[in-house]
Amino acid sequence: MKLSFFGAAREVTGSCHGVEVNGKRILVDCGLQQGADNGLGQGFAFHPGEVDRVVVTHAHIDHSGRLPLLVKQGFNGPIYATEPTCSLLELMLRDSAHIQELEAVWRNRKQRRAGDDSAQPLYTLADAERVFPMLVPCKYDEMIDIGGGASIRFVDAGHLLGSSYVEMWLDEDSHKKKVVFSGDIGAPGHPMIRDPASIKEADFVVMESTYGDRSRPPSFDLQTELAKIIDATLSEGGNVVCPAFAVGRTQELLYHIREIKERGMVKKCPDFPVYLDSPLASAATKIFSGDLLEYLDDEAAALVRSGVSILSFDGLRFIESSDDSKKLNDDRTPKVIISSSGMCDAGRVRHHLKHNLWRPECAVVFTGFQAFGTLGRTIVEGIASTVNLFGDEIAIKCHIHNFRIMSSHADREGLLEWIGAFERKPQTVFVVHGEHETCKAFTARLLGEGFNAIAPKFSSIHDLLTGELVYEGRDLSRLRDQPDYARRDSAVFQRLMLAGTRLLEVISRNRGGANKELAKFADQIDSLSSKWDR
Ligand SMILES: [Zn+2]
Repeated sequence: MKLSFFGAAREVTGSCHGVEVNGKRILVDCGLQQGADNGLGQGFAFHPGEVDRVVVTHAHIDHSGRLPLLVKQGFNGPIYATEPTCSLLELMLRDSAHIQELEAVWRNRKQRRAGDDSAQPLYTLADAERVFPMLVPCKYDEMIDIGGGASIRFVDAGHLLGSSYVEMWLDEDSHKKKVVFSGDIGAPGHPMIRDPASIKEADFVVMESTYGDRSRPPSFDLQTELAKIIDATLSEGGNVVCPAFAVGRTQELLYHIREIKERGMVKKCPDFPVYLDSPLASAATKIFSGDLLEYLDDEAAALVRSGVSILSFDGLRFIESSDDSKKLNDDRTPKVIISSSGMCDAGRVRHHLKHNLWRPECAVVFTGFQAFGTLGRTIVEGIASTVNLFGDEIAIKCHIHNFRIMSSHADREGLLEWIGAFERKPQTVFVVHGEHETCKAFTARLLGEGFNAIAPKFSSIHDLLTGELVYEGRDLSRLRDQPDYARRDSAVFQRLMLAGTRLLEVISRNRGGANKELAKFADQIDSLSSKWDR
């Protein structure tokens, strides 16, 4: 019975954890690496064909975005997730495939001048569509036997529609252990979704730490602040650009803007136009306001029942085609533009930044976490006076606002409260899904609170029955500190590095094997090394 960490280990994206029980392999989350976390590429440090089942905590792409790659490389088992997560995954994975295909076209266009047009998308729309028949929609709070001695239960994490913690019960030769995977832990008070639930017991906990070193400001009236920015910017003739995660944050913004309009909080131009320029966000908005009523919080559900369209209002327009998206930049009417991606590393929002960042009368409002290495982080931290967008240097002259308060991640106090709700301290708390320094700080805090906490390394293996560390893994954050990290290895070399990581893992798994077999394995590796050591 083992637990491994194949992503978001001392990093904040690419969540992917492995459980091995009775020889069966279960993956919890299969996220895409984003920003600087993508140092080893998007490959797997295991063979996807050897995975038997996958459990997904929620639809965000850093928890789900490599599912099409997993399937493309040989996974062929069930994928368990809540009903809303399954609905949202169909949108998000299609969109992600579209981005992968566009990026490959763009890279080929760029590389063709150097005589190389061999870039392939990480996966295609066809790969993404192979995922959907494998999805097994589940309800919250139901015990589900997923076979091989493992049962799971999804509990509302209050982070996104359908988001969950996964409780997992494992039984191997009558040895029983319970592992809880936190996914992303929500923050209370967000519109539409319920406040995060708590869990009372587990032997092991795998816990996120995104905001493990930060607290929210105690009082912040989001609607008043947002209304003030819209009022001031639009009356000066500028636009308000909101880069927002297409699923979750966008709908929350629409909910707030509807209330801002209803309450007449923007005095100078109360009928201001709002453009939702993200086909993905538009489709997700339909899901939020559609037939998933039972997953909304009481307040939103009551509004829907009383006939209120919680995510629509006068002046809201949905932009579908990219031509219409470009036309927005020719129209000088002051407006609010909500567009994705939330971290500005892809998508239409980059065009809007190109046309608005240099205009002092405009404003950009960030509403979610910005990972290290993304364009969003560069702008939010004010570390550059210009940024390169589509080959042009663009000066940053507009007003930049960071509404981190809107993040649907628990802050440090929220995380401590969540882990504090366990009636008995878990045997080990594995701290994941946080930037290296944050993860380290939160782990130290937990140790100070009397928990046995560790920040596992990438591809490390932990024996859940003996409590031993079977394989130490690699510290990818150290890799990032190396001076040549920014150079980025080629995709094939990244694959080779991952193959090496897998080899070390396989060696660890053979500990205790027959001497004759081990000697044969060692001979084969020696011979392979001699062949390539040149
Ligand atoms: Zn999330």
